[in-house]
Amino acid sequence: MYKLPADYHMHSNHSGDSDTPMKDMIESAIKRGLSEICFTEHMDLDFPVTKEVPEGLFTLDIPSYKRDLFSYKEEYKDKITIKYGIELGLQMQITGVNSDLIRENDFDFVIGSIHLLDKKDPFYPEAWEGRDEKEVIKRYFESTLENIQVFNDFDCLGHLDYIVRYAPSGAPYYSYNMYKEIIDEILVTLVKNGKGLDLNTKALFRGSKEPNPPADVLKRFYELGGRIITFGADAHTPEGIAGSFDKACEIAMNCGFTEYYTFDKRVPSAIRL
Ligand SMILES: [Zn+2]
Ligand SMILES: [Zn+2]
Repeated sequence: MYKLPADYHMHSNHSGDSDTPMKDMIESAIKRGLSEICFTEHMDLDFPVTKEVPEGLFTLDIPSYKRDLFSYKEEYKDKITIKYGIELGLQMQITGVNSDLIRENDFDFVIGSIHLLDKKDPFYPEAWEGRDEKEVIKRYFESTLENIQVFNDFDCLGHLDYIVRYAPSGAPYYSYNMYKEIIDEILVTLVKNGKGLDLNTKALFRGSKEPNPPADVLKRFYELGGRIITFGADAHTPEGIAGSFDKACEIAMNCGFTEYYTFDKRVPSAIRL
């Protein structure tokens, strides 16, 4: 059995949607035999306020996060390598603030994620009401493309087809083929700009057949020259760390990948799968 890849997508109580102390995530990663992890706490500025989402829920307190992370990095340095990352929510109206934020901080790794569509959270039915579901998904990909065309200060695109998770019908029709043109444009843009994909195993771990994005998209990324992938279980609790990474490794290798990546101060390094 090969060693599991580094988990490059995880949250702790520094993210608005997790209560897990950082220490519990680290201990769990060590127990699973990981040699490296990267915390990627949420920073989603200008997030719509709802009953469940108070103002500023996804605004990361960077100084407090950094203090905690660097103290654990030192404490656990003989057991595991801990990297300082962020999951940055991309939206067209905040590209300037997001760029400043990345420039002013010294993160090891930045995931750029699109959690909102036209300022609405797809988690709520209102984002879908009165609209054709297939069109909403297409619009999400268009919006992803718009964002990555103007914003360059990230390393990997988070869970490329995130919106599909929340389609009211479960989107049984969804496939790479159905959205081929727009997905290709996204992949070509990533390759051209030297960006990678977050191979997100959260759904896989919960019983879905495919990670986000699915194998067909990963394969296409490889065909188009994309080589940078990071593995991310997107865990918000200790049980989820490195979830289904063995399956994901197999998927990645079947798609042509022989390496995955880790980052240090935004510089990628390839590690053999
Ligand atoms: Zn996310
Ligand atoms: Zn996440």
